Amino acid sequence: MGDAVAVLGLGTMGSGMAGNLLKAGFSVAVYNRTPAKAQALVSSGARLASTPFEAAKGASVVIAMLADDAASREVWLGECGALAAAAKGAVLVESSTVSPAWIAELAAHAAQHGSEFIDAPVTGSRMQAEAGQLSFLVGGSDAALQAATPALKAMSKEIVHLGPVGSGAKMKLINNFLCGVQVASLAEGLTWIERSGLDREKALSILKAGAPGSPLLGAISARMVSHNYAVNFLLRLMAKDLLYAQNEAAHCNVDLKTAEVSRDLFEAAVAKGYGEADMASVIEPLRNK
Ligand code: NAP
Repeated sequence: MGDAVAVLGLGTMGSGMAGNLLKAGFSVAVYNRTPAKAQALVSSGARLASTPFEAAKGASVVIAMLADDAASREVWLGECGALAAAAKGAVLVESSTVSPAWIAELAAHAAQHGSEFIDAPVTGSRMQAEAGQLSFLVGGSDAALQAATPALKAMSKEIVHLGPVGSGAKMKLINNFLCGVQVASLAEGLTWIERSGLDREKALSILKAGAPGSPLLGAISARMVSHNYAVNFLLRLMAKDLLYAQNEAAHCNVDLKTAEVSRDLFEAAVAKGYGEADMASVIEPLRNK
């Protein structure tokens, strides 16, 4: 059982993650709600399971990379869910960006079942997932993390242990709160630049080299300029992350006003049909106004 890993969810991120586990020599079982997305992995040696339960059977590490709380609940606890099949000594890893409230509930189910559990959401996007260069933000016990470490190492450049269960989920929402607000403000700023009469390239060079410059500003502004919305990060997932961030910060009596207005922009873009495009397309409804 030692080298058997199950990956639940083969979207933008899960596919690359499972691919790197295969490359590292793990025996990998995969499950995806839409099985067709597993084809390339199956050709590379993965075992395709028809349910999360079938995927988790016999695995020493079970990793979920799913859209949101509802998807995670369905895959772990739903009919044919993974938890019921998890071996008592297995370590369960929730890598999806989900709410800390759901992480606490899932961890309690795992403990009741007799499995170890960590939350280990990631920073990095599609390219880092494909290159095995993610950063894992981990919450959970030392023992659970140690058991998961060989598998996590195969997918990452860095594993940061932040504290008890829930710490990774909290850190991830803070990270994406800052990302979401920056992307929303860039959408407004770039629309403004485009209508201002300024030279767009010169204006962006100043922003990129100046105080607001960040890896995110560089990558997203390039996609906005080229209108290239091939998915690295689905726009609707950023609306979800900002909502989860607002709910979580409220527990600490912090009112995320900038998340609120940024989420308005992302939800307006979802309403205009950009939910399944890259988050950089948040600029399009502003351009078209
Ligand atoms: P994605 O491409 O949308 O993949 C989502 C996965 O969840 C797919 O496997 C999807 O199955 C599955 N799913 C959705 N609803 C489901 C349900 N009700 N029951 C069962 N499965 C369900 O998303 P992603 O970009 O891989 O992101 C995965 C997670 O990582 C998200 O929480 C996201 O916020 C986070 N994240 C993403 C990035 C990024 O840059 N993309 C970076 C860091 C973290 P189908 O294929 O059948 O739809």
